[in-house]
Amino acid sequence: MGGNAKGMKYFFRDNGTALRIVERIKALDQPARIMHVCGTHEQIITKHGLRTLLPENIEVVAGPGCPVCITPVKEIDEAVYLSDKNIVATYGDMLRVPGTSISLAGKKSAGGDIRMIYSPAEAVEIAKKNPDREVIFFAIGFETTAPMTAQILLNSPPENFSILCSHRLIPPALDFLLKEGIGIDGLIDPGHVSTIIGTHPYEELCNKYNMPQVIAGFEPIDVLMAIYMLMKQIRNHEARIENEYTRFVTYEGNTIAQEMLSKTFKADSREWRGLGVIPQASLALRKEFENFDARKKFDIPLQSDETCDQACFFCANVIKGAGRPKDCPNFGENCTPDKPIGACMVSTEGTCSIAYRYGTIVNQR
Ligand code: SF4
Repeated sequence: MGGNAKGMKYFFRDNGTALRIVERIKALDQPARIMHVCGTHEQIITKHGLRTLLPENIEVVAGPGCPVCITPVKEIDEAVYLSDKNIVATYGDMLRVPGTSISLAGKKSAGGDIRMIYSPAEAVEIAKKNPDREVIFFAIGFETTAPMTAQILLNSPPENFSILCSHRLIPPALDFLLKEGIGIDGLIDPGHVSTIIGTHPYEELCNKYNMPQVIAGFEPIDVLMAIYMLMKQIRNHEARIENEYTRFVTYEGNTIAQEMLSKTFKADSREWRGLGVIPQASLALRKEFENFDARKKFDIPLQSDETCDQACFFCANVIKGAGRPKDCPNFGENCTPDKPIGACMVSTEGTCSIAYRYGTIVNQR
C-alpha cells in the first residue's frame, strides 16, 4: 500500500510526464485565460513553477478559493465581540486576519480567551471541560470542512457549545462570478470540494455559461493534465464538466457527507470578502439546531458595513482574479506574512502569501 502510494506520488511529479503534457498543450496553439478557485491549487501551481512551463498566451489566475481570504471583516468582528465574555475556538489562520479594529490574535494578547484548534471536536472538548463557560466555534471553510461541523451538531454537543457559522459554498459562488463576467475561457474546479459534492453540481454552469470545466487533483501532473483537458475543450468549442481527479471524485460525491449537511444546514445569502453578498452561497444552521447557533443565542450587535479596511482595498481584486499580488502597493512592503494587512497574506492558501513565499515571477503570468 505504502509502495503504491509512493509510486503514485512519483508518477504525479515526474518531470518527463510533465514536459510531455506541456508539449501537447503547446501543440494546441490556443490562447486562453483559465481560473482556478482553490488555495491548494495556487500553491501547487506556484511552488512547482507550472505557469513558467505554459505558453505565454495561456494565463492561469487564482479566484476566490481560500476560505480564510473570503471570510468578511464583519464576521471576524462578530467573533472578536463574542470573545469579550466567552471562549472562542477556531482554526489557526483565522486568528491573524485583521478585523475592523483588531484581530482575534490581538484580542488574545489583550487577555481574550481564544483557543486555536485543529478540528471542531476539540471545541466540543473545551466546552465539556468548561461547563460554566460558553464556548463558540468560529466555523469557516467550504463544502470540505462543513461536514465536520455537521457531524458535531448531529452528535448532541453540550448546551454551552455554539457555532458562529461562516461556511461557504463553491458552486453558487462560481455561478455569481460567471454571471458577473470575469473574462475567463475555462475553470479548474476544486478537487477537495468535489470529493464531497461530486461532479454533477457543475453541469448547470457548463450549460448556462457555455463554460468548460475540469475538476483537478493536487499534484503537478494533475493540474497540468486538467489544463490540457480544458485547452482541448476550449479549442473544440465544447463546454463540459470533466473529471481529472477520478481517484477521489465521483459523479455523486460523498452522499453520507451531503446528507449530514442537508440535515443540519440550509443555504443562506451572506457576504464574501471582496465579492459582496452572493445569493445562496453560505450555510446557516437549520431551525432544529438554533440552540447551537451563536447568532441566535447571543445578542451580537450589528457589525459595521465596512467591507474591508482601506489599507487592504486591493484584496478584493486579488480574490476576484482581477489583480495580481505584485500590483498591490502594500505587497512585500507594508504587507507580509509576518505583518499582514489583508486576509490574502495570512493563510498558507492565500494568493498573496503564496506569491510572497515562492516569488511573484512564478506566481503571475
Ligand atoms: S498584499 Fe496585502 S493588502 Fe495587498 S492585496 Fe495582498 S493581502 Fe491585500
